[in-house]
Amino acid sequence: MRLFEAIIDLNHRAVAGDASAGLHPADFADALPVIALTCIDPRLNTFFPNALALPAEDFIWLRNAGNIITGTLSSTMRSLALACAVKGGREIAIIGHTDCQIAKTTTSVLLEKLSALGVDRSRLPENISDFFGTFGSERQNVIKACGFARSSPLIGAKIPVHGLMIDVETGKLEWIVNGYDTLPTTVAVAPARTDFAALGTLGSFKDFELGEMKFPEMKIGDAALPEIIVAPSAMPATPPPPPTTVLPPVKISTKRTVPPPIQPRPKFPGKY
Ligand SMILES: [Zn+2]
Repeated sequence: MRLFEAIIDLNHRAVAGDASAGLHPADFADALPVIALTCIDPRLNTFFPNALALPAEDFIWLRNAGNIITGTLSSTMRSLALACAVKGGREIAIIGHTDCQIAKTTTSVLLEKLSALGVDRSRLPENISDFFGTFGSERQNVIKACGFARSSPLIGAKIPVHGLMIDVETGKLEWIVNGYDTLPTTVAVAPARTDFAALGTLGSFKDFELGEMKFPEMKIGDAALPEIIVAPSAMPATPPPPPTTVLPPVKISTKRTVPPPIQPRPKFPGKY
């Protein structure tokens, strides 16, 4: 049994009330950690990673509004690629959810809400829906995102890309794109040149070639920031007093444990 086959089985058992349903991560060491892309909806906060029966250390969580991927080289795709290459993610799961407010927000309503926040329509792209990647069907959005991720030149063919839906009332998962099915076939990858040209935000990079990219001789994160020099007058004469409240120490378990069963989500009346 492969990882997501086990996850779906355990999820359905847990939702049905089986308190003993849990994953043994050691059985799936080659498939962990999992990278999940979900929506920002707070109703999801209590579901992950328990809904996947994964311990926290094997769950890399990316979130954006609507779990949208706008293209094979989008910002979210770059994070997914780094999560695989740098953090060792072995399988990707794009997880949409029921009752997503992004799906319920029409372009005209979105423009009204942006306008109410002082956003000038004339400074926005002509096609708002394309720009934000908004959608009307949560399922189609997941399928589309999986298509972008699967065909992205940033994601190796060895990484399965799954698409799932989670019910925000029960935590039950539905597996709608089986990433294992697409593994044997070599996915047609659109030429990088076309993809770059298609990115509106990189319009000036139309002649950009991936092979010409110059990588700095430094580690990621070692940004060449200018040294900050603090003027003597700006330095405190005495060390600042200790904070009045101290957060309790975070208890870090070195032992992998089976996550607790899925809890019904708390009710936030009237918020959604
Ligand atoms: Zn949502």
